[in-house]
Amino acid sequence: MSELILTTRQYLDLEKLALGVFAPLTGFMTEREFNSVVQHMRLPDGAVFPLPVVLDVTAEHVARLRGASRLTLRFQGHVVGEIGVDSRYTCDKPSVARQVFGTSDANHPGVAFFYRMGNCFLGGPVRLTRRITFDFSPFDLTPEQTRAYFQRQGWRTIVGFQTRNIPHRAHEYLQRLALTLADGLFIQPLVGWKRRGDYQPLAILTAYRAFIEEFLPADRVLLGVLSTSMRYAGPREAIFHAIIRRNYGCTHFVIGRDHAGVGRYYGKYEAHALVEQLNGTLGIEILRCHGPFYCSRCGEVVTEKSCPHVHRAPDAIREISGSGIRASLAGQGRAAPELIRPEVIASLAGKPLFIEDDEE
Ligand SMILES: [Zn+2]
Repeated sequence: MSELILTTRQYLDLEKLALGVFAPLTGFMTEREFNSVVQHMRLPDGAVFPLPVVLDVTAEHVARLRGASRLTLRFQGHVVGEIGVDSRYTCDKPSVARQVFGTSDANHPGVAFFYRMGNCFLGGPVRLTRRITFDFSPFDLTPEQTRAYFQRQGWRTIVGFQTRNIPHRAHEYLQRLALTLADGLFIQPLVGWKRRGDYQPLAILTAYRAFIEEFLPADRVLLGVLSTSMRYAGPREAIFHAIIRRNYGCTHFVIGRDHAGVGRYYGKYEAHALVEQLNGTLGIEILRCHGPFYCSRCGEVVTEKSCPHVHRAPDAIREISGSGIRASLAGQGRAAPELIRPEVIASLAGKPLFIEDDEE
């Protein structure tokens, strides 16, 4: 049988497809599925699915495969599975980028990555025969495992929380809100392909373990990871993240400000508008949250729904942004305790924090 060597990103997608993380998808998208998702954010059967999941190869590679209908998939020297090839296709990348990312600008990291991918896509059902171990694997639970855990704990309402940051006070505010409203909280940082300057997976996990142990009711919180690449596709990716958490067994999902955004490509609450449009079709309830930020007049973390100073005394408002905290951790200034807990910073002392190069 012909073989295909997978990149880390492709291997992780294979795993997600085979384990039901991207349900209802069970394979890399065929041309029909791809076009339907790009144009309508739905699979051909009508199910909402906002982002393409493709197996990309080069044109030379396709020629070498000589029309093989099954391919063995190999990663890090091991056979990890196979794909039944139902579809081979290409696309007009700038046009697809405009529809998926809202821009064809190659300065957008998700678009740039999409342009760097192979120009041919193979679609069809996949099988996973071997899982490869990474440093974050002990936290990389399957949907079957999380669903069983939630059931064992007797949780009927579970809030999923996406992040790619170490815990700061704005996220803490949202997590406490979730714990107040629901039975359980599933904090699932995204690891997998990210760009230079993003956190190392183990830094995020170390910080979260310290934070949960010290400050949250640990028996009501499950910490996992979502091992898939960031697409930086803003609103569409927010919906993608919600569907994934539905598949892990969550009943609710938090979408805050500029979810999965980058630079100034998306409006702060553009994802909320898309949720509004898709309301009732996702199989998971979305908690649309504004802010939060620190208000020096109120003396605490607030949202624009709970504090009047946002409009009346904007000088009192301090943004709690992941990027500001990243800058201070990188040695540019000190992180204020009202923005991030000193215990969280202390847990990271001496550890490698950031990814140094864009990963492939
Ligand atoms: Zn206030």
